[in-house]
Amino acid sequence: MVSTRVVIVGGGPRGLGLLERLVARAASSLSRLMVDIVDPGDVGVGMHLAEQPDYLLLNTVCSQLTAFTDHRMLGGPGPMIAGPSLYEWCRQHDFRLNGRHVEATDHLPRAVLGEYLAWSAKRIMAAAPASMAVRHHRTRAVSVQRAGVGSGERVVLADGTVLEADHVVLTIGHGPVHGASPYPLPGSVQTVQAGEAVALLGVGLTAMDVLAALTVGRDGVFDHDRNGQLRYVPSGQEPRVTLLSRRGVPSRARPALRSGRRMTPAAYFTRNRIEQLRESGRELDFVDDVLPLILEEMCHRWRLFGGTGTPPPFTAMLFNGPPPTALRSDDSYTQWYRKALTDDLVQAERGLGVDPVKEALEVLRDHRDVIRLAVDHDGLTSASRGWFYRTFAPAVNRVVIGPQKERHQELLALIDAGLVTIGPGPATRIDNLTSGRYRLSSTSLDKPVGLSVDHVVSGNYPALDLGAQPDSLLSSLDADGRIRIVTVSDRPFGLSVDHAHRVCDADGYPQPTLTALGPLAEGSTYYNHYVASPDAPSRASVDADRLSGDLLQQHQPRDTARRTLEQEPAHV
Ligand SMILES: Cc1cc2nc3c(=O)[nH]c(=O)nc-3n(C[C@H](O)[C@H](O)[C@H](O)COP(=O)(O)OP(=O)(O)OC[C@H]3O[C@@H](n4cnc5c(N)ncnc54)[C@H](O)[C@@H]3O)c2cc1C
Repeated sequence: MVSTRVVIVGGGPRGLGLLERLVARAASSLSRLMVDIVDPGDVGVGMHLAEQPDYLLLNTVCSQLTAFTDHRMLGGPGPMIAGPSLYEWCRQHDFRLNGRHVEATDHLPRAVLGEYLAWSAKRIMAAAPASMAVRHHRTRAVSVQRAGVGSGERVVLADGTVLEADHVVLTIGHGPVHGASPYPLPGSVQTVQAGEAVALLGVGLTAMDVLAALTVGRDGVFDHDRNGQLRYVPSGQEPRVTLLSRRGVPSRARPALRSGRRMTPAAYFTRNRIEQLRESGRELDFVDDVLPLILEEMCHRWRLFGGTGTPPPFTAMLFNGPPPTALRSDDSYTQWYRKALTDDLVQAERGLGVDPVKEALEVLRDHRDVIRLAVDHDGLTSASRGWFYRTFAPAVNRVVIGPQKERHQELLALIDAGLVTIGPGPATRIDNLTSGRYRLSSTSLDKPVGLSVDHVVSGNYPALDLGAQPDSLLSSLDADGRIRIVTVSDRPFGLSVDHAHRVCDADGYPQPTLTALGPLAEGSTYYNHYVASPDAPSRASVDADRLSGDLLQQHQPRDTARRTLEQEPAHV
């Protein structure tokens, strides 16, 4: 007899992460378990589709991606399923990159991650014990309804199937998004013709994807000239691209990762400090309470890695635009921008474990869990929460979630080849012209500049928008009053969830049989869009592990549940 029925809606990396934990825990559980995974695609793959072109690269190096779990990821012991990281899998399968073996620090094509995730899903499903059944429904879920008071959930699929469940977990990724998405590439830029002028909005990872689609995606090649200098050899199919961004500063490139580099434990920005600040139970102000600790930690890290004298202006690196001297003219701005890219690349080449500035900035990634402790689940005052998501989170993306350093070397080569120009300063104004073209006008240069382009292309990942897909699962949940959207400055971010990731209904009450993990929980919790890394604390794995433990515990036959509770040590 099946005692627990779980439906996982969305079988991408997050859905797979939960399945992995359920399989690992089910082996030692007395419960019988039925898991239905609903996803039109192969389980595990999610948005990392095998069909995408190889020039779309992962922003994480391959040794930092895994579909499996280890003790360091969970922060303690737990049942495990043995399995390789993406890097180990590539080595085991003799996967070659440009004819050579894959290195731990390679940024591989995203399609390779998709292949690995699909392989891992098969391995995880094969490890399920006899007490557990897993079924994959290759279709979409269109609604999730309460089956009745205390009787769980009913999931309706697009093919008409109805699944009864004790618990439903939503792992549907980023959800419906607003307006013109740059993905899938290159389809979204197909209308751009050779030689046309394009304004590309954004300078982060997505913008670099679009730039790759418009250059190497059109048969251009990068090679080295006689002096060893990287250069771009055009195919003639490329447009001319002007890079625009609101702040007018380039992203910082991801630094080289020295093998064996370990995260430095925090000295100032610690869990204890946040817990002390919170002792009175008050909401924190990010700028007054939290940011000073982060900056202190950055200065400390900078010194630990050889920085001497006065530390660099980390606050300015995070939040400032170009200096006034850069804004005198179009030329001075372009020169400043190029130098900023070049100087950052020198630091990125030295890499983590060596360069004190890159190490200091890495505090923002290494201690993300402490940031979450301060921010998540209404940990900040509402004004401060707005500032965090509007200003701090984008600054973190710019300085430590930037493009691969190779992408910035290529960007410099594209500037040299005359195919890319830097836009006319920060916050360029864009006007539609009656001719169908667009006028770009500087707003902050001392000597005003204007130019016209044929296309304006988004280089940013769009925001959540329920209206973008009125027939989506989220719209149906919204219509039934089962979700509450978290907004920051009127921009929707994700769903309101409680500490256990239970989805809050329209009135704010958490629903015990409906949970959301992954990007959908953004806004209630900070930074959810990643695949877990091995051998390092992983919030995604901890959340999935906790939920799977709860699911197996909650629905155990009654006498077994009582026995297990009696055996558990009391929490103090
Ligand atoms: C362009 C881009 C590049 C990225 N690159 C990286 C990277 O290099 N490294 C990294 O760690 N992270 C990267 N990310 C972050 C990304 O969010 C995570 O890698 C990961 O894909 C999140 O997993 P997920 O399962 O939550 O979402 P997804 O991967 O989006 O998977 C969601 C799944 O839900 C399914 N689904 C949606 N709606 C329904 C429905 N109604 N019924 C049934 N199924 C449904 C979809 O088919 C999909 O398979 C990138 C994100 C973007 C946008």
